[in-house]
Amino acid sequence: MTQRGIEQVEKLRDVIQCPHCQYSLRGLAGEKVTCPECGQKINVALLISINWEGAWYKAPFYNMLAVPVAWVCLATIVLAICAFDYSYYRFDLRSMPFFPFLGFFVIWVVLIFAIAKQFGGTEGIVLSVLMHGILFGYLIGLLGSVPVLIRLFSDVINYQVGVQTLINILILIFFIALLYSTRRAERFVGGRCVRRYLRVNSST
Ligand SMILES: [Zn+2]
Repeated sequence: MTQRGIEQVEKLRDVIQCPHCQYSLRGLAGEKVTCPECGQKINVALLISINWEGAWYKAPFYNMLAVPVAWVCLATIVLAICAFDYSYYRFDLRSMPFFPFLGFFVIWVVLIFAIAKQFGGTEGIVLSVLMHGILFGYLIGLLGSVPVLIRLFSDVINYQVGVQTLINILILIFFIALLYSTRRAERFVGGRCVRRYLRVNSST
């Protein structure tokens, strides 16, 4: 997937033109270049991010940044299974195993630092932590908006439009705004991944 992302960055970089004079910027390495024709400074990483097609997970380094998130998901599932009280069919947080929890947490910290080292410092930590928020935002946004949407739909077809409908519309707007901001955050992370790739490739 990362390989495909690199291909997409290269493909976009090959067709990029100077926004001021339309001169082709093909073959110029680095995240920021100076247009050979008009001398304007051009942010290549930003141009590639704007023209990015499809999902951001295809961006270089994106999957690497998502590793701690995958780890948190796995840990949550395992710990939830451990904390589930099968005789009462409920979660009992008191039976949460402490040492496995601590172990999961230590490995999470190790993963975050390993990524930071690969990604070039603090930026890697910030982006990787932000990835947790992105997953959370999508989860809450989707799980929250779908039931509200169904309720609104059933209200309308049953002609039961009232104050509750208005409240539901407001709740729906909130979830849509959440999904939109999450999408923006994802675009931000993807853009940083593109920038990182261009930086690494200009120095080699
Ligand atoms: Zn130019």
